[in-house]
Amino acid sequence: MQPFISEKAKKISPSPTLALDAKFKQMKKQGIPVVGFGAGEPDFETPENIKKAGIKAIEEGFTRYTPASGTVELKEAVCAKFKRDLGLDYKPENIVISNGGKHSLTNIFMCICEPGDEVIIPAPFWVSYPEMVKMADGKPVYLNTTEENDFKFTAEELKDAITDKTRALILNSPSNPTGMVYTKEELEEIAKVVVEKDIYVVFDEIYEKLVYEGTHTNIATLGEDIKEKTIIVNGLAKAYAMTGWRIGYTASSAALAKAMGNLQSHATSNPNSIAQAAAVEALNGDQSSVKVMFDEYIKRRDYMVERISKIEGISCVKPNGAFYVFINLKNVLGKEYYGKVISTASEMCDDMLEKALVALVPSEGFGIDGYARLSYATSMETIEEGLNRIEKYLKGEC
Ligand code: GLU
Repeated sequence: MQPFISEKAKKISPSPTLALDAKFKQMKKQGIPVVGFGAGEPDFETPENIKKAGIKAIEEGFTRYTPASGTVELKEAVCAKFKRDLGLDYKPENIVISNGGKHSLTNIFMCICEPGDEVIIPAPFWVSYPEMVKMADGKPVYLNTTEENDFKFTAEELKDAITDKTRALILNSPSNPTGMVYTKEELEEIAKVVVEKDIYVVFDEIYEKLVYEGTHTNIATLGEDIKEKTIIVNGLAKAYAMTGWRIGYTASSAALAKAMGNLQSHATSNPNSIAQAAAVEALNGDQSSVKVMFDEYIKRRDYMVERISKIEGISCVKPNGAFYVFINLKNVLGKEYYGKVISTASEMCDDMLEKALVALVPSEGFGIDGYARLSYATSMETIEEGLNRIEKYLKGEC
């Protein structure tokens, strides 16, 4: 007899990015010389000053429960960061510290969705958004974008997608998986619709430190009325190479922050005390490591875009943020490779992993067909080798 599993749990599919990452790491462990453009995980070490703050926290016995929604010290550091970087005024009562960006997003949907409420998710989207909405009994509604429009939606398209059941829009800028960045002007138009239609905008700015040309705009900076409708999500993982430490945070109305804190107090208690102490150092301490990583990412991006433009059959829009290149595979799909017709991005990525030992993420999990995502949060050496392998595969030389 099958063990009982709830209908809700059965509807949740596993994270394809983490699944690929696990497969890739397992292959490496087995000694298979695979190279990867898989999960978006910085290849840099967590900066020394941050690690030391974690060690100090352990040595000083900062190893007990903290307030469930995070320490006052870290909330104050987050408020200071909002003021410094974006000129935004928040108080500790507006902030909830969580176990990473994913946890923050889950808290949000659990606290804003009634069963059946619609959450608009522009596609291509990061793989976890729809599943998180479903976990909260919400209904993901997809707003498709196209490469011709740089994978961005317009205010008009948003307006058309809103119904009387719409609770929120998710806006991720810079975007995972496309690397696209919304301009201030585009966000101003979107903000007008959000305010007029009285919905929330969940603004995920986890890649805010990685905008290569121009500046990052947070929609909440565009006026008091849109700030009231905005729930900001961010975390330490990407900017400070702290993926394993699991610290994320939200900024919202005090009432919503209280609700999320209550939820968290039962679900997980507090985020790890040691990681919180390290996060204070990350936000308040020396920021030079962020710049070092930024400079390296931009070099990698430029190299990749240039190389991809020279590989026959594939192309990409130059990304302006995050650390992903989203390549168009449409010209190479439907053709025969190694005695088999390859029709979908998934089939091609599977075959490339098997024959060329290179891992890329197929686009189906991001809600669009015919593309693959390459992360450049990996060394230049890996990037060169990985692109050589992709080229070799496409030439039929594997
Ligand atoms: N966010 C990263 C990615 O998209 C890490 C894996 C995950 O959380 O999905 O690859």
